[in-house]
Amino acid sequence: MSLSLIGIILVQVYWFDKSFENNEEQFKYHVKQVLGNVADKIQKYEAYTFYEKYNKLKDSIGKVPEKSDFLEFGYYQRNSRTNETIIYSNSIITEDYGISPSFFDKKLDSVKQLKNFSSKRKTEIYNDNIDNSSIKQRVTPDVKIEKAGRLDLLDNAQFEIFYKDIAALNPIQERISNELLLKLLTNELNEYGVKTPFEYSIYSNGLATKIKSERFKYDKSSTYSIPVFIDNEDNNKYQLLLTFPQKKKFLFSELIGICILSIIFTLIIIIAYSSALNQLIKQRQISEIKTDFINNMTHEFKTPIATINLALDAIKNPKVIEDKEKIQRYLQMIRDENKRMHAQVENVLRISKLEKKELDIKKESNNVHDIIEDAIEHVHLIIEDRGGVITRHLDALRTTVLLNDVHFTNVIVNILDNAIKYSPEAPIIDVSTENVKEYIFIKIKDQGAGISKTAQKRIFEKFYREHTGDIHNVKGHGLGLAYVKRILDDHNSEIFVESEKGKGSTFIIKVPLIN
Ligand code: ADP
Repeated sequence: MSLSLIGIILVQVYWFDKSFENNEEQFKYHVKQVLGNVADKIQKYEAYTFYEKYNKLKDSIGKVPEKSDFLEFGYYQRNSRTNETIIYSNSIITEDYGISPSFFDKKLDSVKQLKNFSSKRKTEIYNDNIDNSSIKQRVTPDVKIEKAGRLDLLDNAQFEIFYKDIAALNPIQERISNELLLKLLTNELNEYGVKTPFEYSIYSNGLATKIKSERFKYDKSSTYSIPVFIDNEDNNKYQLLLTFPQKKKFLFSELIGICILSIIFTLIIIIAYSSALNQLIKQRQISEIKTDFINNMTHEFKTPIATINLALDAIKNPKVIEDKEKIQRYLQMIRDENKRMHAQVENVLRISKLEKKELDIKKESNNVHDIIEDAIEHVHLIIEDRGGVITRHLDALRTTVLLNDVHFTNVIVNILDNAIKYSPEAPIIDVSTENVKEYIFIKIKDQGAGISKTAQKRIFEKFYREHTGDIHNVKGHGLGLAYVKRILDDHNSEIFVESEKGKGSTFIIKVPLIN
């Protein structure tokens, strides 16, 4: 699972990287198109303005060509079926005009020849059969179509060569304005969906010119260029440069939505995966704890069963059977061991009943101090037997609480039991009470082994026992405090523990008072 999770993440990263690359490629393609279009348009625009000037000039000269050539060619066709004769003819007139240098701001050193081409196309149809020689005698054809116009292609080519020579002499800022270039670029970029801020500049032989945006800065990775104003000799002196300072951001913004989605889904997988793993670990811990519990239980049952067996064997002995006193002693032993086993079973049953909420706990108002005294009575002898002492500072003035006396006594006894069990030396225990607001606080303090910080969080869990090397060192099933917690919850009470390893522990119970 971990491996495939890492795999999924790597695949996503790879995919994202590829998409970014593709986007960049597409971006580059669009920008190249935009640049191509803009270069085309500014060249056309220059030609157009020039053409306007030129036309005006031609008109002012007043159509008196200095020299004109006339060229006519014809085509003759006869249709034998309809008896028609068709004659096509095309005449081309080339006219030369001389223009003075003043028109081009004196930048020309000699008089320039302006050429003008025009054509006249004619189609004549004769219905009767005629031959070439008779055409000249015939004056009127039956159908005559005449078209006159300029020779566009040729004219354009001639004109382009002509104007480029002159335009090349102008400085760049007179050939194109910043406003026009900005407008053209904005329009084209918008049309191609490249909606991110841009900066432009025209460079002349690698040096910046006056045609540029304010913040233009050359950056190799995000600058695109195209030659503009190519002259007749195909020299490209000028370069139009376009740069996108926020290119990365723009490319990323196109992917951000899908990227966030994939991050969210990956996170969900990671969370689900780690929680599944967590559950697995928890289950294993629980199963370990249960095995421990079973081991402890069998261990604790083994001794009484063996003792009972020995006692029974002894009673069977004919020598003993006569001795009433001995029989009484063995019977007492059997009863005691039986009681012990019974208590163990009771303990386990009680907690499982609690678990199923089958325990119906009836509560009455009781004096907490009485309950505490009663509990101390239970453990008093054991403490004395181990050479320990138990002191009490029952200072609370208000002590009436709604509680179930049997269960509450068990709670205090369990805590006192632990205080004795987990004191390696003679147990020194102090029980105190005090009133804070509407509560009574019961503190049970020992000077025993103490509980580590991590264990403190878990001691109220079922079956939890702090591992102290040898597990059978101190007997127990990890159920005592779980029971305490359940009973106190039922009493709307709380329990806390303050402890330091090796310095003893204090269990604090907070119980609400009744008025
Ligand atoms: P157990 O049957 O093991 O005593 P408990 O639920 O009563 O089960 O206690 C859970 C664990 O809390 C114990 O195994 C022990 O590690 C720790 N513990 C409880 N009370 C004390 C105490 N007074 N001093 C040190 N450790 C304690």
